[in-house]
Amino acid sequence: MDAALAELRRRLAEIADLRRAEKILTWDLAVWMPASGSEARAAQLAALETVIHERFVDDRVGELLDELEPYGASLPADSDDARLLQVTRRDWEKTRRVPRELVAALAKNGAEAYEAWVKAREASDFAAFRPWLERGLELRLRYAECFAPYDDPYDVLLDDYEPGMRAADVRAIFEVLEPELVSLVAEHASDERDDFMRGPFAVDAQHALSLEIIERFGFAPHDYRLDRTVHPFMTYSGLKDIRITTRYDENDINSLFTAMHECGHGLYQYGVAPEYDRTPLETAPAETDFSMALHESQSRLWENVVGRSLPFWRWFYPRVQQTFPSVLGNVPVEAFHRAVNRVRRTLIRVDADETTYGLHVILRFELEQELLSGRLAVPDLPVAWNTRVFELLGLDVPDDASGVLQDVHWSDASFGYFPTYQLGNVLSVQIWEKAKEAIPNVEEQMERGDFSALHSWLRENLYSLGRKFTPAETIERVAGGPIDPGPYVQYLRDKQGMLAAA
Ligand code: ZN
Repeated sequence: MDAALAELRRRLAEIADLRRAEKILTWDLAVWMPASGSEARAAQLAALETVIHERFVDDRVGELLDELEPYGASLPADSDDARLLQVTRRDWEKTRRVPRELVAALAKNGAEAYEAWVKAREASDFAAFRPWLERGLELRLRYAECFAPYDDPYDVLLDDYEPGMRAADVRAIFEVLEPELVSLVAEHASDERDDFMRGPFAVDAQHALSLEIIERFGFAPHDYRLDRTVHPFMTYSGLKDIRITTRYDENDINSLFTAMHECGHGLYQYGVAPEYDRTPLETAPAETDFSMALHESQSRLWENVVGRSLPFWRWFYPRVQQTFPSVLGNVPVEAFHRAVNRVRRTLIRVDADETTYGLHVILRFELEQELLSGRLAVPDLPVAWNTRVFELLGLDVPDDASGVLQDVHWSDASFGYFPTYQLGNVLSVQIWEKAKEAIPNVEEQMERGDFSALHSWLRENLYSLGRKFTPAETIERVAGGPIDPGPYVQYLRDKQGMLAAA
């Protein structure tokens, strides 16, 4: 038994190391690689991916899991070893279900469709992207077939991002949210301009401010890096080697929020218990991932719940004012706080504020379900998109680039990903409410720039758990119940009500 467990752990640790090497090659591709390196890098990544896949789906892993079955069953249900065996079994079986040719076809179509999407978006020409989307949809439905029988193909795809959750669960949450968000937007949307938000804000100074926040939130200086990329993300090479990326624009100060967002993802990874290091419990081991909603709840908690709060800005605004005196010297903290929380009707999801954001996600979730069920044909997608944007946001979509072609996700047929963004927003507030119960003076601490109690609470009650429990169990532990849109709606109402009254 001991020998079997040791062998399994050794194999899994090796896979985790290869996975991390792959992460660093991907990070380098985005941060440092000269453009001409892309072909060589693609070959390296494909080679690594093949090795990782082959080592993981190896029959020997299955034999070890079978051999360890009685041992796992003899352990208390929440022991680390029992959970390690369960998680590995789930990943192994899921990965073995999908034929290698299909994985390769999805990857190939994804890479080619990405190029086509970039060009189609530039030209604002949906017709040029349409064949790729049709092919991606067809392949994704074949992928769902690997997990037949199912009630709804969407359930299968959602399970890759949010294990255990079903489309019907998401629908129930979004049905509550939609009318609430529509009415909040109707009540609070404004076209008012805040000219001071357009800078100029020197990029080096934005970088220095970002580092200051990240370290105050909880990173030790030698345990992370912050670099520049076109599309910000977080990745890691070890539990004490977290890589965060961001982007800067001299004409806005959004980078501070981007840094807080990616820092939140980073703190989650940074806080995983050291005993899960180099095991599937540290996070995504195979082709599947752990709850994107939980991950996003932490980027949003730090970016929005903390980072757009008045206590946070009472602490940090004087630093920003000192850094940009000619732009913000005469702007009071209340005006700045109002500007970073303004509700605006906009066409682009990634530019949306906290209140309108959910409507962008609901729209995508509905259209994805219609596409997968065959109720909506790909050629009719732009019209369906534009009609729904008008219903939800009251906006006319002038062209496909600012409509149906705006997001990268559909280029590799990643259906089922979008809803996790909004589930993360909803969860962020549920978790924040629990943290506030445990640390009653947390807002006073934030006003002093002290985030240590909040960070410790989150580490103890969430981050350290890694992937040990299922997403539903983890959510139950940290939030005290399942995903519930109530607290999120109340949070938005309170914030916008306070801003309207001031
Ligand atoms: Zn995120």
